[in-house]
Amino acid sequence: MRANVFSGPGKFGLAEKPIPRAGAGEAIVQVRLTTICGTDVHIVRGEYAVAPGLTLGHEATGVIHELGPGVTGYEPGQRVLMGAITPCGQCEPCLAGNTSQCGGALGGWRFGNTIDGVQAEYVRVPFAQANLARVPDALADEDVLLLADIASTGFAAAENGGVRLGDTVAVFAQGPIGLCATLGAKLRGASHIIGVDADPDRLRMAQRFGATDVILSETDPVREIREITGGRGVDVAIEALGSQATFESALRVLRPGGTLSSAGVYSSHLQMPLEALAAGLGDHTIVTTLCPGGKERMSRLMRLVETRRIDLTPLFTHVFPLEEIERAYELFSSRRDKVLKVAIRVS
Ligand SMILES: [Zn+2]
Ligand SMILES: [Zn+2]
Repeated sequence: MRANVFSGPGKFGLAEKPIPRAGAGEAIVQVRLTTICGTDVHIVRGEYAVAPGLTLGHEATGVIHELGPGVTGYEPGQRVLMGAITPCGQCEPCLAGNTSQCGGALGGWRFGNTIDGVQAEYVRVPFAQANLARVPDALADEDVLLLADIASTGFAAAENGGVRLGDTVAVFAQGPIGLCATLGAKLRGASHIIGVDADPDRLRMAQRFGATDVILSETDPVREIREITGGRGVDVAIEALGSQATFESALRVLRPGGTLSSAGVYSSHLQMPLEALAAGLGDHTIVTTLCPGGKERMSRLMRLVETRRIDLTPLFTHVFPLEEIERAYELFSSRRDKVLKVAIRVS
């Protein structure tokens, strides 16, 4: 089979690998549709270390090809969605509800991190019983694929930030995760949602996803948000980029007692200015989020698509066949042509 294999910083591409076989508790899924995540770009650039030889990718829909011993209630041929996070469902963090931290810190993220990922014609799914979510017949692969990671992460940023009815929320960065955080804040009943980004096209998409106000980050977003809120600040500020500047701005626009919900991935030292933190006396809450996974999460989010409460398909700006995945990486990482997410059709 063909697989998109990482072979060291700056080096990746399609290579032949044997079709994997299902061991106990595992399933082999024939991949239909996959996509590229910002994290995959970090990996191929050598900014996040994974083992050379690993197949990339952690977001996919497909069809069950083989079921290993002990996997019950499924049939080959059924269409399924796997979360980017594949928890075991049995360990202490899983049973305590922290499925992303399965087995230890970040342990739930396996695809394209610690085991072969999904940018391939076939993928081995660990803990299949906990991770194969049946896709309703009425839904296309494009309808559900982005639930695997970015939508689950963005929504979780709003959920973990405790957005309440009538809240004012600021979302820093309107990339795919920030856009889903914006939509998540809308679903949670926020009255005002302020989207911040450097790209006017992304701000237009933010309005489509529920932003009531948008601010170009080249202006002074902290001052503008203070003005919009009459000096009060926001109830929840969501950080969806992973930079010192956006983290600091998110902290500076919080009302006393407000919550900073961080969904970004940081790659350098993070500082908290004393005055933004009210010298540690502002009753602020800071929460962080790794994408929730597992089949229950995926089924829950698919119900939102089924009932037309959400539509993530506008995020797909480009489609490529698997043969052209290197070109898809190049476009996605360049951010040219108004690209947001690329769909990779595998079969
Ligand atoms: Zn991802
Ligand atoms: Zn676990």
